[in-house]
Amino acid sequence: MNNLTSLNSIGEFGLIEEIKRAVSLKNPSTIVGIGDDAAVIEPGKKRIVVSTDMLVEGVHFDLTFCPLKHLGYKAVAVNVSDIAAMNATPTQITVSLAVGARYSVEAVKELYEGMQIACENYKVDLVGGDTTSSNSGLIISITAIGEADPETITLRSTAGENDLVCVTGDLGGAFLGLQVLEREKQAFLVNPDMQPELENKEYVVQRQLRPEARMDVIHELRELGVKPTSMIDISDGLASELMHICQQSGKGAVIFQDKLPADPQMLDTAEEFKIDPVTCILNGGEDYELLFTVKLSDYDKIKNHPDITIIGKITAKEEGLKLVTPSGNAFPLKAQGWQHFQE
Ligand code: ADP
Ligand code: MG
Repeated sequence: MNNLTSLNSIGEFGLIEEIKRAVSLKNPSTIVGIGDDAAVIEPGKKRIVVSTDMLVEGVHFDLTFCPLKHLGYKAVAVNVSDIAAMNATPTQITVSLAVGARYSVEAVKELYEGMQIACENYKVDLVGGDTTSSNSGLIISITAIGEADPETITLRSTAGENDLVCVTGDLGGAFLGLQVLEREKQAFLVNPDMQPELENKEYVVQRQLRPEARMDVIHELRELGVKPTSMIDISDGLASELMHICQQSGKGAVIFQDKLPADPQMLDTAEEFKIDPVTCILNGGEDYELLFTVKLSDYDKIKNHPDITIIGKITAKEEGLKLVTPSGNAFPLKAQGWQHFQE
């Protein structure tokens, strides 16, 4: 099976050459890309926003079930999601890789193919990075650069009392997709001849393996003339992201359980795994949807948007964070993000 090219045979410079060849530049603000000591970007009159995210094999992804192409796509998407959450437009990324000797040139190319597809979709240029070897697994660190007019940048700390709390898309799917993939992995380890059972799980699995950054909604909000009063992307789970907005804005919030957006396949899968779907929605994480607040006066502009759900409102700080159940009882909302450091 070994027709693969070892990384050693082409070396770091050979690999960078391959990467450079696969990359094309589109943004007028990109002056110099891969190949010099640093990239050159022309910011014009805009403000620049910068964000970095690191993905570590065995912590953030498992290559037994995550195809490298999807991983490349996801690595870019999660970074673009942070730029989207600032209400900015992504323009460039840099990609740093620590890669073990067991990886082939073909494997790295597959990873970059996925990144390149994401770069096309989100209209960003891959302008540089760093490459080093790793004694353990694969580490991908991406820095995303974006631009925005000073007045459009949206922070976590500026939610106002009585603002509407909104989310994009549906939640909880990515977490359940991971449960499905873990189950199939265990079954495969017991019997390598078995075929994975992914029927009626396509959507949740896709939510886990190939999430999208909601740049589409960012553009649509602009067209509607709506500037969110605060925003964050949902990487750790709705509850903890709402807590960030409330803490940083010095406010409270109330959200309604029967308003939380759920996909039917997410609900079916939760039932199959005997996990409370509300917990998946509140604490699941990795959905990369946007959580944002808007002024009450913008209600008419967003009320019919198919990808936006109003789930509650911002209250005074003293009210705390509350979840109202369908029967009308209010419970304090507990936020538990992913705890990578807890074993
Ligand atoms: P230096 O030794 O000056 O850091 P490098 O040899 O690391 O230079 O990088 C040369 C060029 O290749 C730079 O433009 C750098 O941004 C780019 N580059 C290096 N590694 C990667 C990578 N993994 N992905 C994209 N570009 C890369
Ligand atoms: Mg370098």
